[in-house]
Amino acid sequence: MPKKIDDVLSAETAWGAVSSRDRTSDGSFVFAVRTTGIFCRPSCPAKRPNRDNVEFFLSAEEASAAGFRACKRCNPEEAVRTLGEKRVREAAQYIEQHPDESLSLDALASRVTLSPFHLQREFKKIFGLTPRAYQAALRVGRLKSNLAAGESVSRATYSAGFGSSRAAYETASKTMGMTPGEFRRGAEGKRIRYEIGKSYLGKILVAATDKGLCSVALGDHASELERDLEKTFSGAVITNTKGNDKQMSKWLELVVAIASGKKTQSPPLDISGTAFQLKVWDALRQIPAGTTRSYSQVASELGLKGASRAVGSACGKNPVALVIPCHRVLRTDGEPGGYRWGVERKRQILTAEKAL
Ligand SMILES: [Zn+2]
Repeated sequence: MPKKIDDVLSAETAWGAVSSRDRTSDGSFVFAVRTTGIFCRPSCPAKRPNRDNVEFFLSAEEASAAGFRACKRCNPEEAVRTLGEKRVREAAQYIEQHPDESLSLDALASRVTLSPFHLQREFKKIFGLTPRAYQAALRVGRLKSNLAAGESVSRATYSAGFGSSRAAYETASKTMGMTPGEFRRGAEGKRIRYEIGKSYLGKILVAATDKGLCSVALGDHASELERDLEKTFSGAVITNTKGNDKQMSKWLELVVAIASGKKTQSPPLDISGTAFQLKVWDALRQIPAGTTRSYSQVASELGLKGASRAVGSACGKNPVALVIPCHRVLRTDGEPGGYRWGVERKRQILTAEKAL
């Protein structure tokens, strides 16, 4: 049940903000005038209406649903959208900085002056997760890197923000498919091989575990690519196979073929990500070479209309360039948008794929 505006701020406070044309209140609510049928942001420069004719709403949508039209002068929809997003990002930042705090949606919402209903919904649009799931994912990420760095299980769970080892075991088993202890033993012994090759895109690094590719990266210098690989898989034993490993050479060859736009079979993958990222990456692999989608199309295909930014950030976290073709996702206006390995490379790959 969506909360009413009275739960977040009182009508007096809201009216005070309207009377003083308080800019800092833009985005936290809108006010509607019954006599004109129009709603405005608090700082709208238009003449103040009579208090008796004013109603307050937490969002432009709610005001529209109640039959009001947006004021053309102050564009309240824009204020609610951009400031709402700013507040959602503040909430995310708060979660990041307080990993060990037990999270209540109500407390978080009032901290960033949004209604719990809006915070939950907008948070999901931007990050693809609820605030609670976001916190859990952050904790698991910290837990993994603590364990991979060799910390003891109890120390790693505590500093990742888990209040108890039981909570860590439960979350880890659910999201990692193994207990923290098993993960620690796995990280210690993890062996990664890699091979670096060349293509028209510059240097290509292909890295793999025994199960499949865990990283494909593009760059100008081999040393940079190697440094990034070590950072990502700190704790693992990493070896450069330098052309002496048949399977690695084969996989590198396949990736170079994909880079030149050829339709080839893709090597097996051994990648990890959040449930949402895995879902997005899976959707990307369904986009045929030579075609593209927009971020919002991918979001809709996943049943997450409006989550195009969350899709964009999952694309940005793609661990295997080319093999998961995040380069086939563009902005709605046809512009390439971002690319983890450089926008110019994204353009080049798309041109190569179109030419075939
Ligand atoms: Zn206005």
